[in-house]
Amino acid sequence: MFSIMCGYESGDVRSPTILGFICVLFNMYDVFFVNVVMDRSWITASRISDEYENGVEDFLQFAKRNGIGLNNKYYCPCVNCVNVIRQDIELIREHVLCDGFLKSYTIWTWHGEFLEQSIF
Ligand SMILES: [Zn+2]
Repeated sequence: MFSIMCGYESGDVRSPTILGFICVLFNMYDVFFVNVVMDRSWITASRISDEYENGVEDFLQFAKRNGIGLNNKYYCPCVNCVNVIRQDIELIREHVLCDGFLKSYTIWTWHGEFLEQSIF
């Protein structure tokens, strides 16, 4: 029930601060972080938009911070590698910018994000 209150729909920027307050109040900072701070609507945005490019950078930072790298290689979430093939960060950036980010990959479980952070 609370996840509905904390849910952030893309384009709805009415009151992220109040949403954040509610999430903190209910000790659900993780939900706030994932849904508000880490807005993932860029995944479906145009690949030539700033929004997409910034989102990709956010993802790469997230992967470097939370992902388990093997020789500095992480699972590539592009439409061709589909989180099966590991690439280095530079190549992942190139893949997702040129080929596209897997649109269904909004919870980054292959890069250190836990399911229970986002699903209630
Ligand atoms: Zn790839």
